[in-house]
Amino acid sequence: MEERLIKELKTIVGNEWVQTEKEDLICFGYDATPGFFNLPDAIVQPANAEEISQILKLANREKIPVYTRGSGTNLSAGTVPMAGGIVMFTVRMNKILEVDPVDRIAIVEPAVIVQELNVAVEKFGLIYPPDPGTVTTASIGGTVAENSGGLRGLKYGVTKHYVTGLQAVLADGQIVEFGGRTVHSPGYDMAMLFTGSEGTLGVVTKIIVRLVPAPAHRKSMMAVFDDLNDAGKSIADIISHNIIPATLEIMDNYTIRTVESFAKLGLPVDAEAIILAEVDGDYDTVEQDALKMEKVLRDNHGEVKVAKSAKERDQVWAARRAALPSLAKLRPSTFCEDATVPRSKVPDMLRAVTDIAKKYNVQVGTFGHAGDGNLHPTIVTDLRDKEEMQRVYQAMEEIFLTALKLGGTLSGEHGIGLGKLKYMPNQFGEVGMTVMRSIKHALDPNNILNPGKLLGEAQGH
Ligand SMILES: Cc1cc2nc3c(=O)[nH]c(=O)nc-3n(C[C@H](O)[C@H](O)[C@H](O)COP(=O)(O)OP(=O)(O)OC[C@H]3O[C@@H](n4cnc5c(N)ncnc54)[C@H](O)[C@@H]3O)c2cc1C
Repeated sequence: MEERLIKELKTIVGNEWVQTEKEDLICFGYDATPGFFNLPDAIVQPANAEEISQILKLANREKIPVYTRGSGTNLSAGTVPMAGGIVMFTVRMNKILEVDPVDRIAIVEPAVIVQELNVAVEKFGLIYPPDPGTVTTASIGGTVAENSGGLRGLKYGVTKHYVTGLQAVLADGQIVEFGGRTVHSPGYDMAMLFTGSEGTLGVVTKIIVRLVPAPAHRKSMMAVFDDLNDAGKSIADIISHNIIPATLEIMDNYTIRTVESFAKLGLPVDAEAIILAEVDGDYDTVEQDALKMEKVLRDNHGEVKVAKSAKERDQVWAARRAALPSLAKLRPSTFCEDATVPRSKVPDMLRAVTDIAKKYNVQVGTFGHAGDGNLHPTIVTDLRDKEEMQRVYQAMEEIFLTALKLGGTLSGEHGIGLGKLKYMPNQFGEVGMTVMRSIKHALDPNNILNPGKLLGEAQGH
């Protein structure tokens, strides 16, 4: 990037908030996604929407790519500056602006960490439910842009169910607000359009989220299965008995063995699968639902252990939280996918993933949010082994296409970014792609915002 433009950026945000040294640029050349890296030309850390507006006016005038970055924990290369240009690092915009227990909303800047919001609303007896595995590190701006889910998604939904309004800076620098403090808003649901837009439509600078009362009581259990099909069937049976657990997770044998070998939690290493579940709500309903759920799991040949204390409950969830970190320790590179199917198809998807792993001779551990069909087949591999990587990419392709064939979707929560881009027309068709590219083109005609991500280039205009 030309020196005059760096100077201009420094004039907007101040010298200390623009980095161009190679060692700084390297840190922003990648995110949590394996296999993608490219150096930006500059990292800019704005303090507010007005500064972002000026930066985007400059970038739009000069046609410089801009990649907005929260905490960089996404798994779809969403923040990797593939075409160089500016990384817009939001980290300074980290204030909780308001918590209103009557309107039951919070207004936050984008770099507030999800857990920080939960801590701030706890004293009002409220929670902000979307809880990705990265709840202690992910920024709310990043979770809005990815429409993140999490362990409680089955009962509580995902980020889009909580965003009631937002402020964004458009590619041409205009600042716009959509939605508000109520769930009602006429016209196109523009706040929703920005939720899940993966940094391609604007930079989100303020977010209004809905809060809900914290559950009074929780009960967790673990069920051990000798047969993957029984585990899959019990997921469908729990839901068809009208029990909506807050969390309903699965781990396959490969994941169980890996977690046990690293975390030593006493997991049954011969089990084909374990299901981890939690119900929450008022005391009586929780106790009744827990009994019903226990029966369904036993009827499907599960060996059930109900957590009798907070400590035992924490152990159940420690096993689940250890899944990805344990798998990630096995090999140098970890691809955690999130192809999602209707929950009735979870057994089919689990079987398909096992067959695909065998077919391509790749190491896959599957765990994830089984209750909403959002499985995480996780391939552990080594990016440096070209022959193995070819098999890994073939296996991934077959996993994505199988999810679509089963009536599912390419991504349950990690977004599309770059990794799944080429399968987008399989899910949306050419007309769907054209409609979405038209929206992108209308809001970002010079294609400066996260170019090439989610939709590929904004072609045809
Ligand atoms: C171990 C692990 C576990 C995970 N578990 C889950 C899980 O359970 N559920 C889940 O959904 N995800 C999960 N993720 C993925 C990731 O944590 C989420 O996608 C998270 O929301 C990303 O937040 P971030 O602040 O790191 O965003 P970043 O990675 O910085 O950015 C993500 C995307 O949002 C865009 N963006 C960021 N901020 C803004 C903004 N202010 N305005 C516009 N666009 C913006 C970026 O350009 C990028 O496209 C996991 C990741 C890891 C590594």
